[in-house]
Amino acid sequence: MSVLKYAPEALKNLFRPPVTTSYPFKPFEPADRTRGRIEIEIDQCIGCGMCVRACPSSALTVDKNAGKWTINRFDCIACGFCVEKCPKKCLSMQQFYQEPGPEKNEVTYTKSPEVLAEEARKREEAAKKAAEAKAAMEAKKAAEAAAAAKEEK
Ligand code: SF4
Ligand code: SF4
Repeated sequence: MSVLKYAPEALKNLFRPPVTTSYPFKPFEPADRTRGRIEIEIDQCIGCGMCVRACPSSALTVDKNAGKWTINRFDCIACGFCVEKCPKKCLSMQQFYQEPGPEKNEVTYTKSPEVLAEEARKREEAAKKAAEAKAAMEAKKAAEAAAAAKEEK
């Protein structure tokens, strides 16, 4: 009786294509929503650290001044939180998997020298403007104090 119950399904399966793939004889084709490997467009990163704070497995570190972003891919659980949180949208999940390895190595990405030089120039410019504004404010205060002292005489 039970064999007859499943016979129609078994017969249908005889004429359906296999659900398995022929990997490795045919290339692996990931599903559209595959959560694969995290990649970064490092020159877009602003070093804000949002990804580091969002990461539940402490797989990420960021050094803003050195322009470095580091991931331990073997600690990453492919949750995608860092991708969601990144304000610059420079993180993405690529549709391939981390290859196995004998050690849990970290991978560090460093910004290009041109971008680092440009960021250093902007920091210097901002510091110079801040110093000029501070000096102008102090000069104004000194002038006001001198004027007030003159009026008192
Ligand atoms: S995908 Fe998840 S576990 Fe992997 S680095 Fe991003 S936040 Fe961390
Ligand atoms: S959240 Fe994005 S911009 Fe911020 S440090 Fe991480 S990768 Fe860089």
